[in-house]
Amino acid sequence: MFEKNMELELVIEDMAVDGAGIGKVNGVALFVKDAVIGDRVLIKIIKMKKRYGYGRLLEVLDPSPCRIKPRCEFYRQCGGCQIQAMNYVQQLEFKEKKVRDNLERIGGFSITDKITSNEQGILFHPIIGMEEPFFYRNKAQFPIGTDKDGRIITGFYAARSHQIIPNRKCYLGVEVNEEILDMVISFMEEYHISAYNETSGKGLVRHVLVRYGFATKEIMVCLVVNGRKIPHVEKLVERLKSLTGMRSITLNVNEKNTNVILGNEIICLWGKKYITDYIGNIKYQISPLSFYQVNPVQTKNLYETALVYAGLTGTEIVWDLYCGIGTISLFLAQKARHVYGVEVVEDAIADARNNAKCNGIENVTFFVGRAEEVLPEFYEKGMQHPNVIVVDPPRKGCDEKCLETILKMKPERVVYVSCDPATLARDLKYLCRDEYELREVQPVDMFPQSVHVETIVLIQKKNS
Ligand code: SAH
Repeated sequence: MFEKNMELELVIEDMAVDGAGIGKVNGVALFVKDAVIGDRVLIKIIKMKKRYGYGRLLEVLDPSPCRIKPRCEFYRQCGGCQIQAMNYVQQLEFKEKKVRDNLERIGGFSITDKITSNEQGILFHPIIGMEEPFFYRNKAQFPIGTDKDGRIITGFYAARSHQIIPNRKCYLGVEVNEEILDMVISFMEEYHISAYNETSGKGLVRHVLVRYGFATKEIMVCLVVNGRKIPHVEKLVERLKSLTGMRSITLNVNEKNTNVILGNEIICLWGKKYITDYIGNIKYQISPLSFYQVNPVQTKNLYETALVYAGLTGTEIVWDLYCGIGTISLFLAQKARHVYGVEVVEDAIADARNNAKCNGIENVTFFVGRAEEVLPEFYEKGMQHPNVIVVDPPRKGCDEKCLETILKMKPERVVYVSCDPATLARDLKYLCRDEYELREVQPVDMFPQSVHVETIVLIQKKNS
């Protein structure tokens, strides 16, 4: 009954995990990007499967009370903010529900009450939102390219594509980004420096990476280049270093025909190879290649929750798996006897060791390797009993070998930090089969305007 190109009216009743609105007609679900729950919309069907289909939003006929005017004029084209047209309170509700649904459907947990403990004893806390859900990102990576007329452009990739939407003013990032981009683009125009072309693999400048230390106001600019130098780059450096807070101007060599943004080599053009920033009272050195949480305000909330869930008194042995540059490890080391960190990226561990030194923290040890290999090795060697294990894996979650070893090691508490509620729920189901129970769940809005949500949970050994 529905066919491609058909136009129809629809009321949006639900939202998919990717933020698309869902409306139902005669039991057929239609997914509509940019439609907000509560909207009555006119759509055009762009793809039809047996039981569901996809529609393009043509017109909002009756706007939902949740709908607001997005700040950014490019929000529909840009792949960054999927739910900017929804007011912030509803965004938070959507994310909270996403976490709860995953824990129930995939994890098999019954979460009945938000505020108080329920029968299973799971305390589900209301999501921690932001007072100002814009301008929160400390990192931005702008692709450089050319438009149809050969003009140099920069902006953001369109959703699921590598087409650049020209826009130098993004409301998620810091304001200085725009100034930096203006300087880079006008320099490229003046000195006829080419932009990289992904299709041909020719051209020089690929990306501009900017990092900003919210606590220190230090700025890093890293130019990602298909080569080892940019002609006349000293002119650009001269301009960039006039910006207040500029500390690090570097070049990253990426000569591969790949959509991975950064190559492995960093060449310093001016200043240091890194900037510093603080989370709480811990100082971190951040180099262009290291992973560092993008929302420092919410990271502090996240790590403080981790500290509470870890329940440290000063005598505990803690393992921090997937530790990156040691951010959580160092935060916890202030209250633990000893923290062991494990991370697969060698450079990140170098940063972690260095960060420990800078802060005068001596009760930490870092290992390079996969969590699912390092942990079993130590277990088999008869390691000292760990009291707390913290994991903060990438979206795909933990390897089963890692989870299996955690159970064998019998820590009193496991703190799981996750950026994907679906894999979190899957892993929790595994961990809570027998001797452990889920106690507390705290969603944190690390990425306002996007559909992503961070969650931190506490799992405890039963009767401990
Ligand atoms: N806890 C850190 C980093 C979390 S991001 C912080 O809060 O800043 C996840 C980290 O896991 C990344 O640094 C990534 O390099 C690392 N990683 C990915 N797979 C891994 C594995 N199998 N074993 C150990 N670390 C891994």
